Amino acid sequence: MAKYGMVIDITKCNGCFNCFLACRDEYCGNDFPPYSASQPMTGQSWMQIIEKERGKYPKVKVVYTPVPCMHCDDASCIKAATGGAIYKRADGIVIIDPKKSQGQKGLVSACPYRVIFWNEEKQIPQKCTFCAHLLDQGWKAPRCVEVCPTGALTFGNLDDANSGVARLMKSGKVEVLHPEYGLKEKVTYIGLPKRFIAGAVVFGDTDECGEGAKVTLQGKGEKRVTKTDNYGDFEFERLKLDKAYRVKVENAGYRPYEIEVNTKVDVYLGDIVLARIPMAKSTKMKSIKTKRTKTKGTKAKAKKRY
Ligand code: SF4
Ligand code: SF4
Repeated sequence: MAKYGMVIDITKCNGCFNCFLACRDEYCGNDFPPYSASQPMTGQSWMQIIEKERGKYPKVKVVYTPVPCMHCDDASCIKAATGGAIYKRADGIVIIDPKKSQGQKGLVSACPYRVIFWNEEKQIPQKCTFCAHLLDQGWKAPRCVEVCPTGALTFGNLDDANSGVARLMKSGKVEVLHPEYGLKEKVTYIGLPKRFIAGAVVFGDTDECGEGAKVTLQGKGEKRVTKTDNYGDFEFERLKLDKAYRVKVENAGYRPYEIEVNTKVDVYLGDIVLARIPMAKSTKMKSIKTKRTKTKGTKAKAKKRY
């Protein structure tokens, strides 16, 4: 018997809502006993897409997080239900029985993920079933997975070491959306947003983009180094939440810049203007002399060549 699970790769989700629409297409006006009664035309999202804006102008990022039922192994909804209204199938899919759950409105708040919806007309709680009726007919994945154009959703048998979902689970990159709930979720994520620190370096003497400057980020037990791109921009992603860091910007011939930051929120440092170190008089003379000598040498060589 398969044990089903899903891995959602946030870095691939572009918020197109295809998964949400496929879910509504499958369930609005369609009953699939004994797993689900039809979904109302409005008010329910068995696959929610949560849009989150990160950072502040001019450094803003948007992240989309698809959130279905997590089909938890230690599901709080099952514990809250009476009369066997919610149960787990042998393949791990958590089902709300549309008959036995009649009138149990309290189940809506039994799930901390808020993925159970109340059907006012039918007086039943409802949620994602991983398209159990289709899997029973031999489908390999639920409708949402079938329609995702970017491959952000991977579904399959967790017990099959060769399945895509099992391989992703072993990649060491997956995490649950809310580990603090402790529900042993069977839906996991890759690329959940953390914190970023970003900025733009400008060379003060020329007012040009500070390309190629070295930027060092240091926090407790962590050190990262990067270089600014041709716009002078730099960014450190996937940083820990609420952690103290020190950012140092260096470029030869300019005074280094240092700042302490905390990742309570995403941080955009704005324009960091590096000041030119004034050249000492003797060094300046020496440098001009060297330049002239070099020019002379070049000319001499040029003469020789022609
Ligand atoms: S996510 Fe919520 S509704 Fe789904 S199985 Fe877990 S506790 Fe139940
Ligand atoms: S279909 Fe795929 S890309 Fe589109 S919102 Fe859903 S998970 Fe994201």
